[in-house]
Amino acid sequence: MAMFGTEFMPEMALTSYSNNNWSKAEHVASDSISMHPGAHVLHYSSTCFEGLKAFSHADGSINIFRMDQNLNRFEQSSRLLSLPEIDKQQVADMIIELVRKYKADVPLPPGSMYIRPTHIGTEPSIGKAAAPSLTSLLYVLLSPVGDYFAGGAKPLRILLDEKGVRCAPHMGMIKSGGNYASALGPILAAKDSVQADQILFCPDGDVQETGAANFILIDGNEVITKALDTSFLHGVTRDSVLTIAKDLGMTVSERDICVEELLDRAKKPNVEAALSGTAAVLTPVGTFIHNNIEHQVGTGKAGNTTLKLRQTLNDIQWGKQADTHNWLLKV
Ligand SMILES: *Cc1c(COP(=O)(O)O)cnc(C)c1O
Repeated sequence: MAMFGTEFMPEMALTSYSNNNWSKAEHVASDSISMHPGAHVLHYSSTCFEGLKAFSHADGSINIFRMDQNLNRFEQSSRLLSLPEIDKQQVADMIIELVRKYKADVPLPPGSMYIRPTHIGTEPSIGKAAAPSLTSLLYVLLSPVGDYFAGGAKPLRILLDEKGVRCAPHMGMIKSGGNYASALGPILAAKDSVQADQILFCPDGDVQETGAANFILIDGNEVITKALDTSFLHGVTRDSVLTIAKDLGMTVSERDICVEELLDRAKKPNVEAALSGTAAVLTPVGTFIHNNIEHQVGTGKAGNTTLKLRQTLNDIQWGKQADTHNWLLKV
């Protein structure tokens, strides 16, 4: 299978906003859109996106995971970027109809169909650095993806960065292109200098998240993760994992955690750390790098609780375990 996110279905769903109206959505070739080089998004980064998945079940049905949550976040991102207000029902219909069209192309587990709704400001005006785009394009791309852990889940090396920030603080809960651009330089520098896979941004010691995933700490029967605030992206996977942890009888603590506590707890053999996000579900963290010192997390290997939480979420997504929270939508 091609590298994650490089293969696309031939058509995408597209709607455009102008004169205070969304056009009727249509299916068009997914390899081109037409836009003026002065388009708002190309200069002032009026862009946001979502990432969710559709899963193929043994009974032949195709099921989308927690689409309502992604639509709420898409609406929030668009609003906070002063993009035109999205019509959630329209976007839901666009997603469902497109996935239906490519039902036969949804990979079997452990693969899935990754769904990428995207919203960009298109007004051709380079004079609007401090004004919103009054026109936009909203499209939905489909990308079949394989087993994220095909090469084995090697625990990650994570740099704890107490000085840098992932993005401007008021942009934290927007899934927007500019935030990844903001984090890219520091991440490349961390790869280069200490062979870190990711940076865990911890401004002033406050453990937040990595460039594109939330962070959770597991200490025995307790799951600890930062409580929701405006500084970081509210992951659907984070919420799902916390819900599953509660279902399994674990204690879930949503609260601030500082670097000192993180390093302190990491010494214990039954402590695990993981990154959560739609693409990889839960990825184990084996090493923290802090002030040029390496700290092994627990045993340094993928922890049993991490693997169990990931398996449980996968089993629900793949229809192998009861969907007691009604997370799946059959298309
Ligand atoms: C997408 C993303 C996440 C994970 O969100 P999910 O809904 O779980 O996929 C976490 N942090 C950032 C910065 C993200 O962009």
